[in-house]
Amino acid sequence: MDMQEKITALREELRRHNHNYYVLDKPTISDFEFDMKLKQLQQWEEAYPEYYDPTSPTLRVGGEVTKNFKTVPHETPMYSLDNSYSREEVLEWEKRVQKILGEVSVAYTCELKYDGASISITYENGILQRAVTRGDGVQGDDISANVKTIRSVPLRLQGDYPQKFEIRGEIILPLEGFAKMNEERIEQGEDPYMNPRNTASGSLKLQDSSLVAQRPLDCLMYAIAGSGLKMRTQFEMLEKAREWGFKVPPAAKLCNSLKEVMEFVDHWDVYRHELPYETDGVVIKVNDLRQQEELGYTAKSPRWALAYKFKAEQAATVLREITYQVGRTGAITPVANLEPVLLAGTTVKRASLHNADQIAKLDIRQGDTVFVEKGGEIIPKIVAVDLSKRRKDSEPLAYISHCPECGTPLQRQEGEALHFCPNELGCPPQITGRIQHFISRKAMDIEGLGSETVELLFKEGLIHDYTDLYTLTVAQLLPLERMAQKSAENLVNGVKASREVPFERVLFALGIRYVGETVAKKLARAYKNIDALMEAGEEALMAVDEIGERIAGSVVRFFSEEKNRERVARLKSYGLQFSLSETQLANQTDALKGQTFVVSGVFEKVSRTELKKLIEDNGGKVASSISSKTSYVVAGDRMGPSKKTKAEGLGIPIITETEFLSMLPS
Ligand code: AMP
Ligand code: ZN
Repeated sequence: MDMQEKITALREELRRHNHNYYVLDKPTISDFEFDMKLKQLQQWEEAYPEYYDPTSPTLRVGGEVTKNFKTVPHETPMYSLDNSYSREEVLEWEKRVQKILGEVSVAYTCELKYDGASISITYENGILQRAVTRGDGVQGDDISANVKTIRSVPLRLQGDYPQKFEIRGEIILPLEGFAKMNEERIEQGEDPYMNPRNTASGSLKLQDSSLVAQRPLDCLMYAIAGSGLKMRTQFEMLEKAREWGFKVPPAAKLCNSLKEVMEFVDHWDVYRHELPYETDGVVIKVNDLRQQEELGYTAKSPRWALAYKFKAEQAATVLREITYQVGRTGAITPVANLEPVLLAGTTVKRASLHNADQIAKLDIRQGDTVFVEKGGEIIPKIVAVDLSKRRKDSEPLAYISHCPECGTPLQRQEGEALHFCPNELGCPPQITGRIQHFISRKAMDIEGLGSETVELLFKEGLIHDYTDLYTLTVAQLLPLERMAQKSAENLVNGVKASREVPFERVLFALGIRYVGETVAKKLARAYKNIDALMEAGEEALMAVDEIGERIAGSVVRFFSEEKNRERVARLKSYGLQFSLSETQLANQTDALKGQTFVVSGVFEKVSRTELKKLIEDNGGKVASSISSKTSYVVAGDRMGPSKKTKAEGLGIPIITETEFLSMLPS
């Protein structure tokens, strides 16, 4: 096999694994093996850019930035659906259908109604061309770059697909992924998202597709549009779509009578709570496409389809007490503790109340009988109060004014939904939370030390701050419960070893609000050492790529506090890394500041990787695809033809390797 064939074969193999994992939910290799293969492909692609393929599995990580989404027309309009809420309404609808068709026996395809953002994706010759939002139904926004990062959306099809067609589906955020995103947000001191649907559509409008790639979005398909298609029924369309590689949920069912339709509805009304995503109903579609055509459309929706909306499953119960949790950043989250009640097959004891505004809006009081509902979140929520059952002596709930853990008066910043306990230094969950963050895998990654041990060490008075970790001794640890000689030594050694952790991760570990992993990396690169960063003002910080007012303010605030400066000084004295290493530092300049480069082709004097590093080390930015924001395309031998056309079209200068190198300070 020559190299081109090898690359093609590996791409094909990875595409299959992607399909097994994200579409069929049946992976056949481990995540590790997959990552290794993907790395191999990345290396080959870097070494042989002439075999560029816009549908390569390596492009799923995104990178393209869209400033303004282009408005484009749909070739076939996207309609909404008529809703129904009762069996009677469904029966009436069938009567109308039968009357127009002049037939009594009509078959239907039943599908779940997925709750997300609708999308129409155009494929030509089996390759994804464009993905457009529903918009007003006639035209929508081109969000192709973002949709291409969704792993269950095939970039290239398999089987006997039509030459050109549009496929419609719903982009959703599965419940588990949504819950995880919220955990991380709370962890980073941000307000949690309210529900999966809005978060899914919000994600699609992010400008930076590499951020979209990090969100666990999924895409479920339900219709195909186009001319000259060979399918005859809705059900066949779904089957075909599956064959070509799309994700079509297996629940879809062909029903030969309205009785079967109602059985489908009844079944899913119960089992929908076991699905990994939200559904708010069933979509009933006349199966035969010729009959669909005959039935046609009203101004806003097809006459051949009807959405049956489930009643949200609710239960009434008594709200015993509202308690408050304090997170690492001091964020307070109110929790409703309920009289246990059976809801959608599980016993519910707790419900989330989000924040003070939410409680005030619903006028929720302790002792109230409340209605709980299972919505998008895994924890159920309170949707209303049964006022008829409210006790006469009930009083409006006064949101806590002081921290339940340490008694400090709470604060709430303007525009923020959550209250915070400002007692960073003395509030126990904040202290342990901060240390737990410090030692976590993406931060200092201290071996031999886990979250529970942190709690124990704090309780025993051995640590009050992450800086204390560095003075722990084996002798201090030994008397602790379940602490053998070996584990004590491991812990101390793990702490010692963490002194080699690079600056950017130390910066992340400090726990500055809004400074996540990526931001820490950017700041480390821009300032090179902690002293320069500590002196930086808000404006200077905001000049750094992707650092906005909120982050800049938080950084300045953090370092303006004496205790944080002391922390840094202490950690410095223990030998932690507070500047980029010699090798990282060597040859760093600002010569290319503000300029964005796209690199394409093979080079003679330096490798592609080196070239990219040179750009970044000199303050420039490397982008993966050409846009109007690109300053230069550095072209080597055998530059990708599509890149060349695009650069020329946008009038972006194409420079050689030598020309590029001459831009660097000598
Ligand atoms: P509505 O927005 O309530 O008018 O409902 C119409 C929308 O439901 C469509 O635009 C689709 O995005 C969405 N939808 C979700 N699941 C399905 C499905 N199985 N079939 C058709 N449309 C669906
Ligand atoms: Zn507190």
